[in-house]
Amino acid sequence: MRLARHTVLTRCLQLRCPNCGKSGILAGWFEFREACGTCPMTYTKEEGFILGTTSIGYVMHVV
Ligand SMILES: [Zn+2]
Repeated sequence: MRLARHTVLTRCLQLRCPNCGKSGILAGWFEFREACGTCPMTYTKEEGFILGTTSIGYVMHVV
């Protein structure tokens, strides 16, 4: 299923699953669930997530 970008953005801002639109993606105030209970979407971070954001932040700070 292909979704429009504005649909995904709207669902994320409403704290709903970006894939199916069901609510309940948070396990707590600052914690995501590992996966959606309705569709096969996973919310876990991919490898290199921390390294990538740290690198971008360092470059933005230096420049
Ligand atoms: Zn879902």
